[in-house]
Amino acid sequence: MKKINTIVKVSNINKLKSYYVEALKDEEFKKYTDNIDLSDEVLMKYTSNIEDAIKEERNCKNCPSLKECPNTLKGHCLKAIKEGNGLNFSYVPCDKFIKEQNSYAYKKNITCFDLPKEISNANFNDLYRDDSKRVPIIKYFKEFIDTYTENKTGKGLYLSGSFGSGKTYLIAALFNELAKKDISSALVYYPELLRSLKSSFGSDYEEKFEFIKTVPLLLLDDIGAENTTAWSRDEVLGPILQYRMEEELPTFFTSNLTLKELESALSMTSNGIEKVKAKRIVERIKQLTVSLELISKNRRN
Ligand code: ADP
Ligand code: MG
Repeated sequence: MKKINTIVKVSNINKLKSYYVEALKDEEFKKYTDNIDLSDEVLMKYTSNIEDAIKEERNCKNCPSLKECPNTLKGHCLKAIKEGNGLNFSYVPCDKFIKEQNSYAYKKNITCFDLPKEISNANFNDLYRDDSKRVPIIKYFKEFIDTYTENKTGKGLYLSGSFGSGKTYLIAALFNELAKKDISSALVYYPELLRSLKSSFGSDYEEKFEFIKTVPLLLLDDIGAENTTAWSRDEVLGPILQYRMEEELPTFFTSNLTLKELESALSMTSNGIEKVKAKRIVERIKQLTVSLELISKNRRN
C-alpha cells in the first residue's frame, strides 16, 4: 500500500515539475518568478496560481476602467506574496478602487430606509435646473447648507407636489452634499418605516425609534401615502415630531399631499374623524418646516 502511495506522489511531482518547466519558457513568467526569490522546488507547486496573477497584472497594465475591470475581484489584482518558505496569494485593491472607495466615504453619514439606490446616489451638481419651479427649492437648499453648516440649525422643508417630479431626489441630493461635510442624516420611506416598526415590537423597536428621533437630519419620505392609524399618528409621528421640535433637529418631508390635504388624511382613522389630533400634527410640521411645492412632469421612466 505504502509503495503505491509513493509512486503516485512521485508522478504528481513530475507533473508539477514539467508544467513549471514549460511555463518558465515564457519570459513574463520567468521574470515574475525571478522576483519572488524562492527555489524552483517551492515555486513549481504554484505554477497555475502564478499564471493567474500574471494575467491579472497584465489586465491592470491595460486597465480599461474600474467599471470594466476584467479581474476576478473587481478593482483588485491577484498577487503572489512570499511568506517564509512558501507563497501566499491575495487580492490587493488597486489605486483606482481605493480612490473610488474614499470618494464614497461620506456615505457612511447617510442611512437609507427602503429607498431605491439611484436616489441614495443623488448628486447636488446633477440636479435638473431646466425647470423654473426648482429655483426656489435650490435657493432654499443653498441657504440651508450655509446656516446649518455654520450653526447646526435651520428649518426643514415640507415639499409637496406631483408624483415623480423629483422631490425625493432633491432632498437626497441635499443630504448627500451635507454628508460630504460629515453631517449625518436618514432618508426614510415613511410608509415602510411604519410597517417595519410594527414588525419590530419586542425586538429592536426602541433602537429604530430612537435613531429616527435623534438623527441630525431626517427625511420622512412620502408622508400621507400610508394608511393612517391612531397608533402611527399618535404613537409614532407625534412623538418623533415633538422631540425634533424641542431639540431643533431639521426635519424634511415629501408628500403628494398639501399640508391641508395631509391634515384631512391624518384625521381619518378607524376611530372615526379626529380633527384635533390631526391638526396638532400639522401644526408641528409647520413649526418644523418651510413649505414649498414642486409640480412638474413625471421623471420616472
Ligand atoms: P418624487 O419623489 O417626486 O415622486 P423622485 O424623486 O422619485 O420623484 O424622482 C423621480 C425619478 O426621477 C427618479 O427615478 C429619480 O431618480 C429621477 N430624478 C429626479 N430628479 C433627478 C435629477 N436631477 N437627476 C437625475 N434623476 C432624477
Ligand atoms: Mg418620492
